Amino acid sequence: MGHIDHSLEPARLDLHNITVAYNGFKALDDLTFQVPHGERVAVVGPNGAGKSTLFKALVGLLPLRSGEIRIHGKPLGEHQDCVAYVPQREEVDWHFPVTVYDVVMMGRFSRIGWLRRAGKTDREAVWYALAQMGMDELAKRPIQDLSGGQQQRVFLARALAQEPHILLMDEPFTGVDASTQESTMELLEHLEQQQVTVMVSTHDLAMASQRFSRVLLLNRRMIAYGAPGEVLSPENLNRAFHGQVLMVNGVAVVDQCCPGDEHEHGTYPGEEWHS
Ligand code: ADP
Ligand code: MG
Repeated sequence: MGHIDHSLEPARLDLHNITVAYNGFKALDDLTFQVPHGERVAVVGPNGAGKSTLFKALVGLLPLRSGEIRIHGKPLGEHQDCVAYVPQREEVDWHFPVTVYDVVMMGRFSRIGWLRRAGKTDREAVWYALAQMGMDELAKRPIQDLSGGQQQRVFLARALAQEPHILLMDEPFTGVDASTQESTMELLEHLEQQQVTVMVSTHDLAMASQRFSRVLLLNRRMIAYGAPGEVLSPENLNRAFHGQVLMVNGVAVVDQCCPGDEHEHGTYPGEEWHS
């Protein structure tokens, strides 16, 4: 009881027939997949595919209409604090009056508990994470004063300070400069050495195929899941993106990264929710 049998090496993350709905609208419909220990998964799909919804369900921010999520073979609630989540930029209130240090310390909250003050170990973890992301000198600055790239590094530091077993990052490569993209990728490589399981949503198909061990292709339902070379076939991409895939010299390019695009294409149910 309570002992993990490493000879079985259970999947870190199991989703069984997950459905998530907003009012009547099923944003995720009957998803089933497993992410084994230490894998790095890219989540790819058009705007409105349910990528953000999936991540929010995985951290318990959205209720499941049906299905079950297991972490280390246990129901989600029991292992909630081993999942770190870096939300999509647009979903964060950057004007919230907190310092860089405070944001990173929030990553420790589930460990600290609400009734206990931060201890030496917590402060050390926060400073270590800040230094790791090159943000220690900005620790006392309000988060709103930072550039977009710096803000993202702070959120990565927060995820690091949490010492997660599973890290979820929602579009960390969208809307940040190249050097932040590179340090995000370096962080992923660092976490891979520590056997952290990682899921990242991205519109960059080249990055998904070159730097991830698996790809989940999503459009409300699961289109395909597995090795990048098999998943990112022209047939699968056309099914996920409804033919809005451009082939350039044999390389698939999707034009979906900017909010607003979807209104021009206008093929996804539920898009009216975006203002
Ligand atoms: P993605 O991240 O892949 O762009 P989302 O998970 O944000 O997709 O959204 C999936 C679908 O759910 C979209 O159709 C979107 O309009 C809808 N949706 C997302 N959040 C809400 C919400 N809070 N209320 C109602 N509908 C929502
Ligand atoms: Mg999203």
